[in-house]
This record gives sequence, structure tokens and C-alpha cells, in this order.
Amino acid sequence: MDGNLFMEKMSDRVRKILSLYDEIKAGVNKSELRFNVSYIGVYWIADQFFCEKQVELYMKSGDVQTEKTKIGKNFHEGISAGMEQANLEKIWCDILSGSRLYVSNMALVAKWKGVPIVGRSDLLLFSKGKPLWLFEFKFTNMRIPPDSSHVQARIYSLLLKLMGFNVSMLKYAVVLSKDKLENFETWRRLVIDKVQKHILFKEKAVVKIDNCRAFIRKPNLDKAEKELDFALGYWMNRREAIPTKNASKCKSCAYITNCDSKLILNKSSSTSVNSD
Ligand code: SF4
Repeated sequence: MDGNLFMEKMSDRVRKILSLYDEIKAGVNKSELRFNVSYIGVYWIADQFFCEKQVELYMKSGDVQTEKTKIGKNFHEGISAGMEQANLEKIWCDILSGSRLYVSNMALVAKWKGVPIVGRSDLLLFSKGKPLWLFEFKFTNMRIPPDSSHVQARIYSLLLKLMGFNVSMLKYAVVLSKDKLENFETWRRLVIDKVQKHILFKEKAVVKIDNCRAFIRKPNLDKAEKELDFALGYWMNRREAIPTKNASKCKSCAYITNCDSKLILNKSSSTSVNSD
């Protein structure tokens, strides 16, 4: 590609992202959305599929720090260990130049039906200007990722498409690990390498790597669109928050004390009942 044309193309895409951020900062959409937010975070949307009531309580009373959230935050801060720091222009320049590169915490932003959706995926691999892999790391005792993890990865994939990327080759991996990692950088390289070497014959696969399991999928973008539409129904005041129907989620919920929709486990039958 001609150098000037390349710079123009790059600048145009970066300009669009920056102007969307300006719009968000100016609060253009505030009046339309619950809690006067000017954008919807992908993280919130994913959590809506865990328990929407929990998202509402979080928005009203803020984050409740638990040991679990602290551990998760510490591990996440190490995801980019050993990677070069770069600004938005440099990242886009490298992506559009066709280089093969990993980008951690890349800001993904696009509008869906007029509403800005914002997120940061843990790790993305680009090659020839296309995103090939999206990695989401979850530090947890769970053996299977909840639906919300897949929702999150699907919506990041949709955002990449809305940002103008060709996502025809894109796959994602939700990586579950429960152990504290001595050398995160080495571990990250090992996981990425093993996941990429796995040949995906079907729509999905699970790869076991030492202390973790990677759940690989091709993102279903039609599903992501429906999930976004459903989630926006709440933010746009078209319906009230829907609480979970799974009592075991309430059992470990940090907001249970203030929740009027909590479910309790019935010891004799292990079925759930509403406490109201
Ligand atoms: S207590 Fe249950 S219903 Fe209430 S916010 Fe927590 S998980 Fe949701």
C-alpha cells in the first residue's frame, strides 16, 4: 500500500475511535441510558448474563471488593507482563501494516444502534491486518466458564467487526486457571502457543494445558447481536433488571444483603425459592 494512503487509512480509523471517545466524554447519550452513563461497558453486559440484578446493585452501590475479585485483579494486571507499551496510533499503525502482533488490553469501541459500547479484551493476535485470536483469562476455581464469559468474548468479536476488521478467521479462547502463576509471561506464551496449535475441527473444543483449560470457539456474531439487543433493553429503560433463577449464584453474591430478589437454597431439596 502506498505510504500516504496507508497513513490516511490509519488516521481515519484512529480519528473515528477518538471522536467516539470525545462523544462519550461529552456524555451525548447520557439522557437515554440508565444511571446517566454515556456508554455501556462490555463487562457490564457480560455480567447481565450472570445476574442482571447484580449489575444493577453494582451500579447503585459500587464495587464490593472480595478476596476473589482482588486475586482476579492482581492476575489481570500481569497479563501484559513483558509486552511493549504503545499508544493508540502505534498499535493501529502496526496492525494495519500487516505485522503479526499481540495486543493486550486493546480498547474496543463502536456504536450499536446508536449506543457506544466499550471494552478491553485481554489479548488479541493480529496478522495481515486481521484479528486471528482473542484470549480472555479467568482466574477462578470454576471448571467450566459461565455463559457470561462467552457473551463477553462474542461481543468483543462483534466490536472488532463493527470497527472495520475482517473477522472471518477470528477464534476466541476463554482460559480458566485457578493457580497463582510464578512466571506469568512464560505461562502466557505456553498457553497461547498450545491454543493456536490446536486445530479446530468442530465449532468448539477444550484444550487442557498444565494448570488450565482453554475453551475455544468460533464467535457466533448473530448470537452476539441478539445478546446486545437484549442487554440494551435494560440500559434503555425498556424493562427492569432480571434476577438470576440460580440460587447457587446468590449464595456467593457480594450484594446478597441488599438484594430484594435473592434466592436461598432449600437444604432438603436443593431447589431454590424466592425469599420475598
Ligand atoms: S443475591 Fe442473587 S439475585 Fe440478588 S444480585 Fe446476587 S445473584 Fe443476583
